[in-house]
Amino acid sequence: MCGIIGYVGKEDAVPIIVDGLKKLEYRGYDSAGIAVYGKDGFDVVKQKGRLAALEERLKQSQLAGNMGIGHTRWATHGEPSDVNSHPHVGSQNKIAIVHNGIFENYKQIKERLEHWGVNFASQTDSEVIAQLAEHYYCGDLMDAVVKVSNAMEGSYALGIMCTDEPDTLIAIKNSNPLIIGVSEHGNFIASDVPAVLKHTNKVYYLNDKEIAVLKEGSVQFFNIDKEPLEKSPETVTWSMDSAEKGGYQHFMLKEIMEQPKVVRDTIQSAVNGNNKNILDNLDVTRFNKIVITACGSAYNAGVVERYVFERLFRVSVEVELASEFRYKDAIIDEKTLVILVTQSGETADTIAAMREAKSKGASTLSIVNVVGSTIAKEADFCLFTSAGPEIAVATTKAFSAQLVLLYILAVRFAVKLGKLSQDKEKNYLSEISGLPDKISSILNRIGSIQMYASICIGYRSIFFIGRNIDYAIALEGSLKLKEISYIHSEAYAGGELKHGTISLVEEDTLVVALSNCKRLYGKIMSNAEQVISRGAKVLLIGNCKDAKESEQLFFINLPETEELFSPSLSVIVLQLFSYYVAANKGLDIDKPRNLAKSVTVE
Ligand code: GLU
Repeated sequence: MCGIIGYVGKEDAVPIIVDGLKKLEYRGYDSAGIAVYGKDGFDVVKQKGRLAALEERLKQSQLAGNMGIGHTRWATHGEPSDVNSHPHVGSQNKIAIVHNGIFENYKQIKERLEHWGVNFASQTDSEVIAQLAEHYYCGDLMDAVVKVSNAMEGSYALGIMCTDEPDTLIAIKNSNPLIIGVSEHGNFIASDVPAVLKHTNKVYYLNDKEIAVLKEGSVQFFNIDKEPLEKSPETVTWSMDSAEKGGYQHFMLKEIMEQPKVVRDTIQSAVNGNNKNILDNLDVTRFNKIVITACGSAYNAGVVERYVFERLFRVSVEVELASEFRYKDAIIDEKTLVILVTQSGETADTIAAMREAKSKGASTLSIVNVVGSTIAKEADFCLFTSAGPEIAVATTKAFSAQLVLLYILAVRFAVKLGKLSQDKEKNYLSEISGLPDKISSILNRIGSIQMYASICIGYRSIFFIGRNIDYAIALEGSLKLKEISYIHSEAYAGGELKHGTISLVEEDTLVVALSNCKRLYGKIMSNAEQVISRGAKVLLIGNCKDAKESEQLFFINLPETEELFSPSLSVIVLQLFSYYVAANKGLDIDKPRNLAKSVTVE
């Protein structure tokens, strides 16, 4: 959601910023812009639409300089338009800013500034930051930034430049992500690591209300009282290739294909690597309640895991959307473990849910992909998925990594609670370790999935059904499809069909039925019969032993596995199915309309 990149150094900032913005495109945006400090002050080029359009405009401009800031905007205040795009420059042309987030009390401050004669060019909340900074500026940019920050309510990551201090780029954040990259030729601010990976793997993660002052050869950190801070850089292990498409047509397909490795690495880190210690030391016997809270696909991972947790250790588990949990006055206390699942570690609702849980005395355990992110830092315990950077907006590999990490968590909890013998633990862990090869074997059959997807383009609605754990993964199949193909889709528990949904089934409706639960195989097959007899076509995924292919029934058999872990296999087919349906429609798969990768606003 919005991307920020800034550079100050020896090289021309413009190509560096454009490239950084491209690496941040995955976050979702509707307009983009760049400001550099040039010969005669700030030069700004910004406009509505894709980066390609901005690049065209840049070709006609003479933009050049050694310091600049760039932004991809995901509009929250003011329509997407050229004038509302960032960077924003104050009316004295002295201060330029890029902003990610929402300036909640901007209206009052804007009114006050207008009263004092300041003219605003845009409808955004963000322009108020530039104007307010100019209002406060008395020869010390850091001082003005502190005053602005103290006046602001809401979330922000900011990059700020001032014509009176042409060698200095200042960054500050509150609730929204911002990293600082340091390289031989210059220093960077960015919303996320892929934007700077080409230049450096040494990054600092900024905490809330910390200020970074960047110059060509130095970076200094201060707290909000302007006292210097000592911070250590971290070395990012992600390779540069991980931010490139590597020959695939889309990041989403590349990321789907990376899943055997990602799942293997995540298992490895839970069994022998960095996550092991945390799993070993967590005393689960002190909890009498577990709540899993998350948004989007991560929520669906939580729904899967509720079945796994409850089956393995017989403690009832609640799964809550983070956006609901944060406001519901949840019944939790010191004896509750709240598990937060998030790829980015920056999802605004999940951050709020975490803070709410902590304020009520609950313990928090996060499952996060991005080291240094807000949730990774603030949760009491954090387990990291080893998915590497995920660029496509629709998650695939991070979801698969979350699933396996939570399976292992469930197995370890069950042992600690005395609900699982060591033998059984071994069996389960060996089943989990077998998943990467089984995922590879599904990826080897990509052609048949592509073929089924190609006959599904014409459908206006596609339903996903399953029972028990198959229902949980049906939710993810349906979400994936609608996210990237824009086809209406719903997921239902098989048993619910007759309570309403079946009235929507008619000639040429497609129903995707998941059938991994042995005990319930007969039930889901009879659901399939019911919809077939009303004219629907059924694509069966999972255990399809006695199914007979016909004009109305197709199937994709999955490798045998322990039923509880079957979502890790079903989801691969569901992802590929959605991918090819969307690809056949020629859609912008990596950046679906209106969606953003990491939802840093409420
Ligand atoms: N609230 C700001 C705007 O609407 C920033 C949005 C963003 O984070 O992209 O311009």
